[in-house]
Amino acid sequence: MSDDNWLARYRASMMGTITDPLALLVRGEGCQVWDSDGNRYLDFLAGIAVNSLGHAHPALVEAVTDQIATLAHVSNYFATPPQIELAERLQRITGAGEDGRVFFCNSGTEAMEAAVKLARLNTAGGPRPRILALNRSFHGRTMGALSLTGQPALQEPFAPLLPGVEHIDSTIPALEAAIGPDVAALILEPIKGEAGVVELPAGFLARAREVTREHGALLILDEIQTGIGRTGSWFAFQQYGIVPDAVAIAKGLAGGIPVGALVTFGAVSKLFTSGHHGSTFGGNPLATAAANAVLGEIERSGLVENAALRGEQLRALIADLAHPLIAEVRGRGLLIGVELSEPVAKDLARAALAHGLIINAPNERSIRIAPPLIVADAELAEFRTLFTAALEGIS
Ligand SMILES: *Cc1c(COP(=O)(O)O)cnc(C)c1O
Repeated sequence: MSDDNWLARYRASMMGTITDPLALLVRGEGCQVWDSDGNRYLDFLAGIAVNSLGHAHPALVEAVTDQIATLAHVSNYFATPPQIELAERLQRITGAGEDGRVFFCNSGTEAMEAAVKLARLNTAGGPRPRILALNRSFHGRTMGALSLTGQPALQEPFAPLLPGVEHIDSTIPALEAAIGPDVAALILEPIKGEAGVVELPAGFLARAREVTREHGALLILDEIQTGIGRTGSWFAFQQYGIVPDAVAIAKGLAGGIPVGALVTFGAVSKLFTSGHHGSTFGGNPLATAAANAVLGEIERSGLVENAALRGEQLRALIADLAHPLIAEVRGRGLLIGVELSEPVAKDLARAALAHGLIINAPNERSIRIAPPLIVADAELAEFRTLFTAALEGIS
């Protein structure tokens, strides 16, 4: 196949839902990918925090290869060993334990749809028509998840959205003013990834846990981007000393194979009953075997600890550049945001790509960096060289 005119063919065949792709990628290995012209890139985005083990990791390749040759799909009229194993693993790593329950789907937005339905089932003490979410949040693109997403520009073309969803500022006073006995759930990201890796104010999550408990509302966390070791613990909430009622998981869970999950904690695990929800593909043996391989490799190789350590090194390395364009370095583990002093994030990401480095600009002021959890010294050193060159290129 001639790749010379790939962009023209893409535009002539793909729905115009997104801006033009940056390159035609054909192969990956570890923290690197190659395009159709043979150019190599250091991948510090990992498919937006998805490729936990990098590209073509032998553990994932072997698990998927074996499973697809054995049993790939059976429907939820039947159980399979990889599905049960993954559900038990998620009970363990979330800390939900034996009182927790797992629902499997295929993506982040589907995990949020399950979360919305879970919220609607919370009618403790009377009707609870309201769901609280945060301004500048991102929860996905399907209608329920989009209703939660606190970005008017993404929502407006698709109004009317789900009734009862209200967006509040990420401040404790705003939360205290909005919460009440008619709130079914507060749904939020512990760190807002799409907003540019933005943490909540100090004490916000602890207070969120308190007020939701006081008013009988569920606290549902969207850890689709922050989960699976990304922030230096299995889940970000584990660093804030709280336990949610449910957590949504997807992106990094199966290292690139589509899978999503909603994990409930304690009594909330009894809200969904037979006939309430389902997914044809959800929890199929292929996707769950892939996730088991990813979680197994993360444990075997200490990649949660690596994410914590490398994240700290990476943030220090970026801060040490002391470049005038860099106003702030934030984030936890290997989910890093760099705030720029000028609105040139898209230019910087483009310059980085031209130097062979993949990073991302979620908006004009911030750069997001989320390499595979396997990054080591060599990749960090190469990142420094390429990122410095990109910064110099646009200054
Ligand atoms: C990516 C993401 C989603 C949506 O996941 P999809 O798999 O793209 O549907 C939802 N919430 C957060 C925080 C995300 O980062």
